[in-house]
Amino acid sequence: MHKKTCSNKKCQCFIVPNYILENLAQNEVEAARISLAKSRQMRRRRALKEYDINGVVSLTDAGPGHRGESARHVYDCKGGTTLRVNEVLKEGERSIGDPVANHAYDYSGIVRDYFKNVLHRDSIDNEGLDLILNVHYGDDYTNAFWDGDEMVFGDGDGEMFISFANSLDVVGHELTHGITQFTSGLEYNGQSGALNEHLSDVFGIAIKQYHLQQTAEDADWLIGADIMGPTLKGQALRSMKAPGTAYDNKLMGKDPQPDHMRNYFHGERDNNGVHINSGIPNKAFYLVAKEIETDKAALIWYHAMQSLYATTKFNQFVQIVIKAAQKLVDSGDVPEKAIKIVESAFKAVGLPE
Ligand SMILES: [Zn+2]
Repeated sequence: MHKKTCSNKKCQCFIVPNYILENLAQNEVEAARISLAKSRQMRRRRALKEYDINGVVSLTDAGPGHRGESARHVYDCKGGTTLRVNEVLKEGERSIGDPVANHAYDYSGIVRDYFKNVLHRDSIDNEGLDLILNVHYGDDYTNAFWDGDEMVFGDGDGEMFISFANSLDVVGHELTHGITQFTSGLEYNGQSGALNEHLSDVFGIAIKQYHLQQTAEDADWLIGADIMGPTLKGQALRSMKAPGTAYDNKLMGKDPQPDHMRNYFHGERDNNGVHINSGIPNKAFYLVAKEIETDKAALIWYHAMQSLYATTKFNQFVQIVIKAAQKLVDSGDVPEKAIKIVESAFKAVGLPE
């Protein structure tokens, strides 16, 4: 298996895309406006980290966690924006009085154990990297992100969004960004960025279905349904089964995800559509899972993930996934029909072009 150290290309990946927060901010949702400002601040913090390499000291960069034990560490930011200040839970401890810290601990454990027991991967870096989780980040902060070293969760504003640690698929999504960083390092822009987003959605949803013991048929295939507050109840951030239908309301606008190459988004926003065009491979994954079940589909995708490289585009991705399916058919891990199913699923979304 390929392994890449992540000293250079760390991605800072937010679960709620800016275009949703911008719509909310335009509709006078104060928390969205504040979260956008925070995200800009965080990008400046990242810029500082980049400068670090050139010798400029940044006080905010604590670096990656300890390797070897895949131990969980949950920190309480207490509404501030400094990470790793107050450790409230660590590996082996159970349930404190704070349900948000408990969720971060439990869900990250489920994600870690899925990768270990089902896919034989030892944590994010496959070398037992500790999982560092910061909760109660910022004041009403309406986002969650992987910052290149650790996970950060806002509490939401309680109206549009509730705590971002409340969702297994969100935690799985963000930790998978870490795995991508340590495997292919897919560049967070254009088609490679959309694949980066896609893989995070794939494992976020696969882990949720595995944990809930759902079949592909029974599952809702929604990302972020559990973080919606009372005002946005019933909406979600993305639908892998039906991209473009996760939300449609006055506050958030309309879900812009295409489910076919003919509607590919060519604009510049969202790093050239990383959260938008991911709908296309997402739909293909759903079509495969529907036929051979999500666990088998996820196994194919996980194997493909090891052969990707930083600038992989959709067409190349299709070839790599088909090759992975072939290998797993040969080893008897997936049924023979999987190859044809993968090919026709991609064909159904217009791939390869
Ligand atoms: Zn993401």
